[in-house]
Amino acid sequence: MSETFDAIILGTGHNALVLQAYLSHCGLRTLTLERAACPGGGLATIENPSRPGFFHNPHSFFHRGITAMPWYRDLELARYGVRYVEPELNVAMILADGRTLEWWRDIEKTEASFGEFSDHDARSLRRWVDEFRPIVEQILMPEAQSPPLEPDRRRELLRRSKSGRRLLEISALSPLEFVTREFEHDTIRAGLLFFNGLREIDPRLEGFGHAIPALLASPARAQMCVGGSAALARGLVEDIADHGGQTRCSVEIRQILIRDGRAAGVELATGEQIFARAGVVSGLNPQQTFMQLLPVDAVPGRVREQAARFRYNLLAPLFALHLALDEVPRYSVVERRSELADAFMTILGLERFQQFHEIVQAHERGEIPPTVAWGACPTLFDASQAPPGKHTAFLWEKVPYSLRGDPLTWENEKQGHGRALLELWRQYAPNLNDSNVLDCFVLTPLDTEQTLPNMAMGDLLVGSFAGNQIGYNRPFAGAGRYRTPVDGLYLCGASTHPGGNITGLCGYNAAAVIASDLAIKRWWNPPIIEDILTASGS
Ligand SMILES: Cc1cc2nc3c(=O)[nH]c(=O)nc-3n(C[C@H](O)[C@H](O)[C@H](O)COP(=O)(O)OP(=O)(O)OC[C@H]3O[C@@H](n4cnc5c(N)ncnc54)[C@H](O)[C@@H]3O)c2cc1C
Repeated sequence: MSETFDAIILGTGHNALVLQAYLSHCGLRTLTLERAACPGGGLATIENPSRPGFFHNPHSFFHRGITAMPWYRDLELARYGVRYVEPELNVAMILADGRTLEWWRDIEKTEASFGEFSDHDARSLRRWVDEFRPIVEQILMPEAQSPPLEPDRRRELLRRSKSGRRLLEISALSPLEFVTREFEHDTIRAGLLFFNGLREIDPRLEGFGHAIPALLASPARAQMCVGGSAALARGLVEDIADHGGQTRCSVEIRQILIRDGRAAGVELATGEQIFARAGVVSGLNPQQTFMQLLPVDAVPGRVREQAARFRYNLLAPLFALHLALDEVPRYSVVERRSELADAFMTILGLERFQQFHEIVQAHERGEIPPTVAWGACPTLFDASQAPPGKHTAFLWEKVPYSLRGDPLTWENEKQGHGRALLELWRQYAPNLNDSNVLDCFVLTPLDTEQTLPNMAMGDLLVGSFAGNQIGYNRPFAGAGRYRTPVDGLYLCGASTHPGGNITGLCGYNAAAVIASDLAIKRWWNPPIIEDILTASGS
């Protein structure tokens, strides 16, 4: 038995689903193939098996600026009930002495919070927000929403405009250098580096000095999907189905089939072969795609080596503690400052700039670093994720994948570490006691890799930005514009530009490239970065 589609897409991560939606809207017959029982990858929401009615988000939760993403608008996902909230007090870093550093949707309030620590830093914040807003809106956002330019061409175009030259100048720094140069207060420096760390850019990495001012100036704030992160995946899948696309879950892909030198379909572990007239698109990582799923003789040796060398983030893996609660975590700090009761993301344990070095060093040694954790109580903003009057909450912490040299060590240590994390949390929110905590469970970087094997070594960003694995060279030179050295095979996952996290932009950009290769008239209007940069320089 064999069936033929126009395009077959491997995996149902959100990038694959966004791509599939665009191609299905073009009238192509599309199929996504997924090993898990449910589509969505990092967009998951699971019901607690011991506490029915409590829903937890085991992977992504904080979705930055999703409602402003071009695909969210183009696909009109609100029609499928997808809805986001963006809480006012977006991020609060709670210090041991009860002070807080706060990021509000309203920049005036954020500036006031910075001012409680340092007037100099409050002024610096405002200056960078004002200076970087046009750079974010006119360069960085359209750049993320376009297939990447060849690096020399990019530099040449950026040099033509004042904003472009400023971007190149600031980029030459590392986030660490940017923060120490522009901000003076220890707590603010620590908070800003954490902010940067959320995007998982190694603070020491040169070429990313723009990351912090870009985050500060970006209009995109942390949002959450009502009904849980899986509601976004459900909306995408419904839209795809309405346009004739198909999704098959719980399948094991044996190999990508090559016919006449082209990727022509896939073979499943059952022996079933499914063919694709226009091409196969992989939402998986380069090792899975080029080394596990393609026949050896279909991949030039050089390409196999490039795939083998693809590097993962040391600092990205997370340990998660999830709670089912009788009542919300009540932070002691709320007695002093009532607004904190409505804080969305709370950061605990971060006090000093120096902690970053300690975290990095612990990761390099394979040890659990001194605890810095962050999380949220989703049900404060969306009651549907727990039974009436009840709550869920979670805390994440950056930990090494290979604990003391072996990821399996997590199996013995995870429960004890979860208890230690809950103990720390209780110091800030004393009501997290035995009668309030109805159930708790933990997830380790090993669990991440086992659930989502494309996140090798628990790297939830599917590949570092170090080693030039960015833009045109992401995942590696020659495969950086969603096309690969194998004819008819494309990439669309987080290992491509602009990288990991829930952005949907890898899939969005891949859709534009594939539509162009198939000479299909696009029904949407993606930004053309070459034209934008050319116009801004003239
Ligand atoms: C604990 C955790 C917390 C996170 N928090 C956030 C957050 O708050 N905000 C944020 O923006 N991002 C967060 N992320 C990261 C985010 O989830 C990922 O960067 C994002 O999901 C990557 O998207 P993707 O489209 O590349 O594919 P993925 O979401 O990784 O999906 C890939 C899909 O491919 C499937 N697959 C893998 N191998 C095969 C195979 N051989 N055959 C078939 N299917 C296969 C997987 O099952 C999966 O469904 C988090 C991730 C984790 C693990």
